[in-house]
Amino acid sequence: MIERIQVITRGQERLEEITSRVNDILRRLKVEAGVCHLYVPHTTAGIIVNENADPDVERDILERLEALVPRSGRYHHAEGNAHAHIKASLVGHSLTIPIEGGKLALGRWQGVFLAEFDGPRERTVIVTAIPTAKVPTEEIIPEEFRRRL
Ligand code: ZN
Repeated sequence: MIERIQVITRGQERLEEITSRVNDILRRLKVEAGVCHLYVPHTTAGIIVNENADPDVERDILERLEALVPRSGRYHHAEGNAHAHIKASLVGHSLTIPIEGGKLALGRWQGVFLAEFDGPRERTVIVTAIPTAKVPTEEIIPEEFRRRL
């Protein structure tokens, strides 16, 4: 089951939380248990899990990435957004998160964020929900294999 989320990013560099939008999709698809794969098909945006309680965490992440890969650095890429390509590569383009009880099995303080490094613009997140069997493992594994476990 594949769905897409459109995200309008609100600044040049932002972390845009999409946790509730992903959970809405899982609820609509009725995926109780399984694995959720999230993929960002862009070269200057990525996706991360991090704290969603204190907004200063977003500032710290973006400021530290800027210190590592400054916008005004010397780069070969002529488009002027080499720093954004590098930052997106550092944070990565996909996440795999367990689904439990019909929603992402995130920790209490965790949220999922699209990480924008060359905004503002419209971005896409591809959500793939893979349901797992609800029957207990003992019923899936044949008797002769179970005896060896
Ligand atoms: Zn570029």
